[in-house]
Amino acid sequence: MTERNTSDLLIQVAMRAEALPIIHLLSLKPIGRMDPNLPSELWQGIVHGHCISLVTNGCDPEFDCDRIGTESAAIVAFLALRITRPKLIFNAGTCGGFASQGATIGDIYMPTRFLFHDQRVALPKFDAFAKGEKTTADFPKIRSATNAKHGTCSTGSSLDTTVDEMAFFAAESVTCKDMEAAAIIRVARDFQTPFIALKAVTDLVDHRQTVQESFLTNLKFATGRLADAVGHAARVFSAV
Ligand code: SAH
Repeated sequence: MTERNTSDLLIQVAMRAEALPIIHLLSLKPIGRMDPNLPSELWQGIVHGHCISLVTNGCDPEFDCDRIGTESAAIVAFLALRITRPKLIFNAGTCGGFASQGATIGDIYMPTRFLFHDQRVALPKFDAFAKGEKTTADFPKIRSATNAKHGTCSTGSSLDTTVDEMAFFAAESVTCKDMEAAAIIRVARDFQTPFIALKAVTDLVDHRQTVQESFLTNLKFATGRLADAVGHAARVFSAV
């Protein structure tokens, strides 16, 4: 299954369409599935002498679409971290941005604060656990190489946004809305592996064009920008 059992860097990507430009740019080779019971796929390659592994969440065999979202993100993160034992994990993907926070389509964010916006448990301790707030160290060399913006990423299980979630985003100064990052960072913490999220904006959550329409229109452009950012970040990482 794996060509190399340890990696220097692991890149986790939810969708194949987001992953392919990165795979192409870094000349990664398909290795296959990490586990026969999971559709997640693994690619590997050597970049400047460092082994890079990339995993996707895989295609759901029943519903015939990418397994986006938190459940697959967490399972794949666990397995990939256990198998490849990287020094660092990137979650590369697309996100919703906010015009009110100055975002435009194709912007790259490298958030250092992560939350869940649709997990509410009004009980002591479980309330904080459900919100799952985590912060990461900044990586200034990677930030400047990718020209990434600062911010807070909030994760939930839906592409659309409710009125209450809009209020939550404003109160928490959220700049990126996605469906994986907060789940992956929780697993990365269990492995004590440093975590970086690189997110390209495909749609603006607070814009009148629907998120679904913009996502599909902008996916190619944003994933190209994402691949460039991941390529720069991987080179900075490999040079250290
Ligand atoms: N409709 C698309 C699927 C998009 S799902 C299709 O048919 O291909 C959204 C995926 O992109 C998730 O993996 C999520 O992390 C990211 N994403 C992009 N924009 C988002 C937004 N506004 N809200 C939540 N996730 C978003």
